[in-house]
Amino acid sequence: MPAPLSNAKPFLAHPFDDDKLREECGVFGVTGTADAANFVALGLHALQHRGQEAGGIVTHSMETGFHSARRFGYVRDTFTSPSLMEKLPGTVAIGHVRYSTAGSKGQTEIRDVQPFFGEFSMGGAAIAHNGNITNVDALRRELIDRGSIFQSSSDSECIIHLMARSLQRDIPERMKDALRRVEGAFSVVAMTRTKLIGVRDPLGVRPLVLGRVGESWVLSSETCALDIIGAEFIREIEPGEMVVISPEKGVVSHRPFEARKSRFCIFEHVYFSRPDSILGGRSVYETRRQIGVELARENPVDADIVCPVPDSGTPAAIGFSQESGIPYAMGIIRNQYMGRTFIEPTEQIRNMGVRLKLNVNRALIAGKRVILVDDSVVRGTTSRKIKEMILDAGASEVHFRIASPPTAWPCFYGVDTPQREKLLAATMSEDEMREHLAVDSLKFISLDGLYRAVGEAEGRDANCPRYCDACFSGEYPVEPADMLERGFKLKTAAE
Ligand code: SF4
Repeated sequence: MPAPLSNAKPFLAHPFDDDKLREECGVFGVTGTADAANFVALGLHALQHRGQEAGGIVTHSMETGFHSARRFGYVRDTFTSPSLMEKLPGTVAIGHVRYSTAGSKGQTEIRDVQPFFGEFSMGGAAIAHNGNITNVDALRRELIDRGSIFQSSSDSECIIHLMARSLQRDIPERMKDALRRVEGAFSVVAMTRTKLIGVRDPLGVRPLVLGRVGESWVLSSETCALDIIGAEFIREIEPGEMVVISPEKGVVSHRPFEARKSRFCIFEHVYFSRPDSILGGRSVYETRRQIGVELARENPVDADIVCPVPDSGTPAAIGFSQESGIPYAMGIIRNQYMGRTFIEPTEQIRNMGVRLKLNVNRALIAGKRVILVDDSVVRGTTSRKIKEMILDAGASEVHFRIASPPTAWPCFYGVDTPQREKLLAATMSEDEMREHLAVDSLKFISLDGLYRAVGEAEGRDANCPRYCDACFSGEYPVEPADMLERGFKLKTAAE
């Protein structure tokens, strides 16, 4: 299979924005259309918020076989070139967008960009993975000892090597064998010459949905990417389910794993997913608005205006305003086109930091007591700078209200998080954080309040929580085996 390599230096899509947790990937696949690659490019474009550094597409045509392209950059700048897209013919295609994990695991090379492809005795297969394998160190050691030669530093490549070692006679059965060895979070979209395959890990940590457009079937990380190609949302792939989609049999569901209680990532509701997506039958926008309502109920404060920290704080700020009766105002304006402006920012430009991305609407702020609603506090560096900008604009008070509980633990399930000691909430109490940020008040939604906002009327069931909330609670639903081996300490009874 031709696998074009590019030496182009990757740009940093968010050179000033290292103070957010970042979803690392989005996946998309389609079968049964002559225009498969273009559909996937559109789907990936709608999933760009899940990963902006690089993307890839693999297609299969009965006449010309498998084709692939992997590129650094936004989908709109890469997979729109007619000369590239005409090299991706076929009726089945899958794609992947990824976010660089630079800093934690080193900068991405083109060889780390998915989908990954493997040639097996029964034909080729490509996979695109969203999530993170938590026992990859041990798997990699074992596979290398037994002769596997890895091409990338990505944990996802293990799946291809495990499939190669399986003795099963078809690709879906080999995938089952491989994924039963894998621990952690995975939503996988895969393809063979004729089949499109979707799998979610037994806990269903990361999302994956099934859609249909005409006679074609679609798999996507989020429903917003179905909308862009006019596909109808059929259903979510269930936790622990594998669907194998072929022209002869349509969608066939398999249950390759032992049944477990699902633990979907609650942060998808707070921040990662697009507000126009549907998760678990609920509008993400509506959930975020409801988070704002709960936040206002739990942490009222006297003030003149409620401002979102754009864009992700917007629905929660609307909910806060509606519940509190305090007027909503666009006190901070985001410069939408910032990301691509400075490919290699100089030190001087870096020092301008958040001002390049956000600007204060002085006319609204001057002399006002301002409530700022943000989705999370990670390192606290951005919150501090935003507070300074608001005070510089003449605000008389600044109150932070945060639409998630304190993020005190790293995520090991496919989200790029700083090391624990870099998380503000890991080292400081709420009061200490307020002092550190030097704001008039700082309050977070409680974990119970967040659960209520996502539809659990009784709040969080401590004995059987319905979501993964490890970055808030420190309770990891899948033991992070690799990290424990590297010295990570789990929460103790005293914490
Ligand atoms: S640790 Fe946090 S971000 Fe990671 S899957 Fe769990 S809830 Fe989501």
